[in-house]
Amino acid sequence: MRLCSFSRDSRRQPGLVEGDRVLPLTAHDALDIIRGDEPVAAGDPIPMAEVVLEAPVIPGNAFGIGLNYRAHAAETGQQPPEEPVLFAKMRGAVNRPSGPVVHPDWTRRLDYEGELGVVIGPRAHRVSPDRALEHVFGYMAVDDVSARDRQKSEPQWIRAKSGWGFMPMGPWVTSADEVGDPQDLRIRTWVNGELRQDTSTEDMIFTVAELVSFASHVFPLEPGDVISTGTPQGVGVGMDPMRFLQPGDIVRVEIDGLGAIEHEIVLP
Ligand code: MG
Repeated sequence: MRLCSFSRDSRRQPGLVEGDRVLPLTAHDALDIIRGDEPVAAGDPIPMAEVVLEAPVIPGNAFGIGLNYRAHAAETGQQPPEEPVLFAKMRGAVNRPSGPVVHPDWTRRLDYEGELGVVIGPRAHRVSPDRALEHVFGYMAVDDVSARDRQKSEPQWIRAKSGWGFMPMGPWVTSADEVGDPQDLRIRTWVNGELRQDTSTEDMIFTVAELVSFASHVFPLEPGDVISTGTPQGVGVGMDPMRFLQPGDIVRVEIDGLGAIEHEIVLP
């Protein structure tokens, strides 16, 4: 299934994406479906153009992963880590697939990070890598927006990684049974139509299964929690000369089979 959250007349509700239409569901929230409720139609399908897609889930906990692709570690001048580097994406960072992302006045080095997002299904606590994928509900695209100057100058990444709206996600969650192997997905990022990132998730240092297992040893992962699995090479800070996001820029992250998110960077 392709589970989304959408709003129409400012009411947020869950739906199933069927082609270019959204089938509204009776469930109160997409989380109910992720927890196992059967999706039940609440009316006729609505043309996608008549709704606004919201973040598919509001995660109770969201993680990012630092340096999970070798070529990205190299472009930022760092050694690949021996264990996954976990950091928090705070709730204030959660954003619609269409954004916008506000360019804060406290950074001059705003950057994109196109990533595969994992949405947890059944609660995962201290699970082994070989059972971890049983705890994945589905997958989506994420932009792990990052303020590079703050990432360097501050010991905690609250500002660097969790500015307001720094986590556009979606456009919907494609259930794991429809995705197949999460290590065989092509992920691409464009800025203003220019292709910047183009890699397979095959190149991850730690697999989705290893990341879910690792995070599940920190605390129990609950349905709807999100792990954004790290970005491949091609970010702005890795370019020569470096190129950062400016108001008016359009970032698009697309993962084959999962859809695309596209958001504008705007002035505060
Ligand atoms: Mg990242």
